[in-house]
Amino acid sequence: MTSLKLVNVTLEYPDGTSTLKALDAVNLAVHQGEFLSLVGPSGSGKSSLLAVAATLIKPTSGLVLIDGQDVSALTEAERTALRRDKVGIIFQQPNLLPALTAVEQLVIREHLRGNSVKDARTKAEELLDVVGLSGATHKRPHQLSGGQRQRVNIARALMGSPSVLLVDEPTAALDHQRSESVVRLLRQVTDEFRTATVMVTHDTEYLPLTDAVASMRDGRISGAAVPAAQPN
Ligand code: ADP
Ligand code: MG
Repeated sequence: MTSLKLVNVTLEYPDGTSTLKALDAVNLAVHQGEFLSLVGPSGSGKSSLLAVAATLIKPTSGLVLIDGQDVSALTEAERTALRRDKVGIIFQQPNLLPALTAVEQLVIREHLRGNSVKDARTKAEELLDVVGLSGATHKRPHQLSGGQRQRVNIARALMGSPSVLLVDEPTAALDHQRSESVVRLLRQVTDEFRTATVMVTHDTEYLPLTDAVASMRDGRISGAAVPAAQPN
């Protein structure tokens, strides 16, 4: 199944009296259990692509489909619900809450969603075990290493059982060894939870851990593009 599909997506930002095309007729399809790397120079549109795929920004034109659902047809509230239920987002900086333990970082989201805290705690402990942090569930961010904090971030993104996992430069703040283990973990969770994972990265040495590489330049994509007319 195609979990994430972009069809002819263009995103323009106002730029003085003219406009800047951050995304220029981008076509992309990522399937369940597929791990795609997205590379390209700074300013080429990688983060813009993730923001549009995350339904955080509406494209100027074109379609974004998540699990076959056309996002542009949704109301603001429906889009928020879709993002909550289907999309996991992992940025470079984990943005953990300083006062909370690892397990609480995961549980608070479910609590805010009105779900049972007891069930959420069980799920959070399972996910922290998956990411290799079963011994650190009660540690707060300052007691964790950078790599461990990024693992909490990954576990947190998986709490909602997302179909699509969007990851922006997850290793930019980490040393080589920790970077490799974070990319290996993303490979593992993509396989285990069958997410369609898109990872923006500068580390070309980890590309072999992913299934495909798409390359961006001036808002245009090449490599993993699909013809716009191709059906689901
Ligand atoms: P990358 O992640 O590949 O570095 P971005 O998606 O951040 O690229 O940026 C693509 C282009 O869009 C760049 O020219 C950038 O300056 C521009 N851009 C990004 N965000 C905004 C914004 N909020 N307003 C105006 N221009 C933006
Ligand atoms: Mg970026």
